[in-house]
Amino acid sequence: MKIGILGGGQLAQMMMQSPFGSQHDYLIYTSAPATPTAGMAPQMVHGYEDEAALKKFAEAVEVVTFETETIPAAAVKYIKQFTKVYPSEQSLYYFQDRLFEKNLFKTLDIATNKFTPIDSHEDLDRAAKELGFPFIIKSRRDGYDGKNQWRVKSGAALELLKTEKNFSNCIAEEFVAYDREVSIVGVRTHNGDMKFYDLCENVHVEGILSYTVSKSNDPLQHAAEACLTKAAEKLDHVGVMAIEFFVKDNRLLANEAAPRVHNSGHWTIEGAETSQFDNHIRAICGVALGDTRSRGHALMYNLIGDFSKKDELLALGMQFHGYNKSERSKRKLAHCTLVSDELTDIQHAIKIINR
Ligand code: AMP
Repeated sequence: MKIGILGGGQLAQMMMQSPFGSQHDYLIYTSAPATPTAGMAPQMVHGYEDEAALKKFAEAVEVVTFETETIPAAAVKYIKQFTKVYPSEQSLYYFQDRLFEKNLFKTLDIATNKFTPIDSHEDLDRAAKELGFPFIIKSRRDGYDGKNQWRVKSGAALELLKTEKNFSNCIAEEFVAYDREVSIVGVRTHNGDMKFYDLCENVHVEGILSYTVSKSNDPLQHAAEACLTKAAEKLDHVGVMAIEFFVKDNRLLANEAAPRVHNSGHWTIEGAETSQFDNHIRAICGVALGDTRSRGHALMYNLIGDFSKKDELLALGMQFHGYNKSERSKRKLAHCTLVSDELTDIQHAIKIINR
């Protein structure tokens, strides 16, 4: 098939490299030249408002998907006039805006931490009363990897922040002193079949995912699957979806969701029978899903900003995936995965990573 991907980053790269994905031809549409997929497929570089270019792109392919939720939902809706698009603009619409996302969780009875919309300084004062300190302000859009977030520790800090910035199109949310963070990655087909990967436990540093460990038999696996099922069915989602949760007192609190393949699912390339990337392309092509069972315990570690730990990680026997990106502070450049039958191997690698 000829597949169009909106966005040309590492998520598109890994879809194209997957065993099922590599059997297809691709066309990338991106608003700026993207190095991870450079040389792998032709790239159309145009804005997402350029209807003539979007039409040309859509007419050149049999199905379109996206690798980032920053694509305007309107662009996806427009493209749908000319070709099939999975997931649909509905999934994008809800998950690219934190307020819509949190409201969707509430509607679906998916527990989430307290939140309130922020469009003015008066809203911030109200939020401080409702949520107490500390609380977190997050921009509704474009706030991935800890970007556009402000932790407010006290009334004095809030007053200072108000002098520095006008807050609108934000939400404020309760700070969660979580016990751990987990995510569930699942995939849904056109006819509603769903498969899930083992829940994984995530460790973030400065708001960015540092490493992920897959957890077979986690007691929260089924509860997390139930949340993802509700969201995917409500949106008639086709493809991979992920939900990240805080865990507090053995209870899941949804933090955010992604209508796409997810960083906390990268371990599935080596760690599961069929990776999230392979299953995403299968789902959008209308092909039966592959087995999502784990092949052992898995650890995935992100190389962020520089490659300084690369040799040490390779010496641990980890598999390296580079994204063809140059070094830059806070940028995800590559990831490494270790799969083992022995949990002690994973624990040893984590110790080295944390040194
Ligand atoms: P997010 O961009 O919302 O996924 O936030 C990135 C990371 O910041 C999360 O994975 C947490 O580690 C931390 N974080 C975000 N929101 C909260 C919160 N309400 N309470 C505690 N930690 C948070």
